[in-house]
Amino acid sequence: MQRRDFFQGSAVVAAAAVSGCAAPAAQQQRTPFAVPATFIPVAGSDQLFPVRRIYCIGRNYAAHAIERGSDPTREPPFFFQKPTDAIQFVAVGTMPDHPYPPMTKNYHYEAELVAAIGKGGRDIPMAQALEHVWGYTLGLDMTRRDLQNAMGDQKKPWEIGKSFDRSAPLGPIHTVAQTGHFTQGAIWLKVNGQLKQNANLNQMIWSVAEQVSKLSEAFELFPGDIIYSGTPANVGPVVPGDVIEMHIDGLPNLSVKVV
Ligand code: MN
Repeated sequence: MQRRDFFQGSAVVAAAAVSGCAAPAAQQQRTPFAVPATFIPVAGSDQLFPVRRIYCIGRNYAAHAIERGSDPTREPPFFFQKPTDAIQFVAVGTMPDHPYPPMTKNYHYEAELVAAIGKGGRDIPMAQALEHVWGYTLGLDMTRRDLQNAMGDQKKPWEIGKSFDRSAPLGPIHTVAQTGHFTQGAIWLKVNGQLKQNANLNQMIWSVAEQVSKLSEAFELFPGDIIYSGTPANVGPVVPGDVIEMHIDGLPNLSVKVV
């Protein structure tokens, strides 16, 4: 390849990356390393939802904020991300193995409503925010709590506690056309049949609409982004052998077995 061609190709890729679409230029070839894309099946259809980014909101139920040492009345929402390959898809009616991750002795469940973005935007007004949500599912924001706490104590990033492999088990996406929007309804989680988390979606400090609006002030949203909307109080540990079952009214339950 000519040096000049190389720079032309790079310029095309750079321009494409800025526009959010890093397609290779015609004269460029991909390396032989395949990087799989991440998809979430859509319930009741043959469609697959392509995942671009996973955003998560922290401390979004007052009782959970208090148990994590925050004042829920004064703090603006804050967000973190997980990598897309953290997703572990859990088909309805199955109970796949969920591997207990390395480096932790305090592995926690967090049951959460997940919103899937179908229309992007920046600075999305609250009143229009739900028009950007294409569907919903339920998911677990699995957390190496000891590592999260240790990093927090040192004022270091949370990634190692939150953004590790398979830290985002979730179910199939149900379209808004199928289910409507989720502003209230029971959300609960059981471990080995014993109720651990039990709350209502209407207890969120920041609603899904507010999350979409606030998030779009910090990041341009695109189709394929998903948002974990925070967990209620009473997070706690699991160990190998435990079965986690989670429920949100209007969605099929999700179950995994920790191994
Ligand atoms: Mn969470």
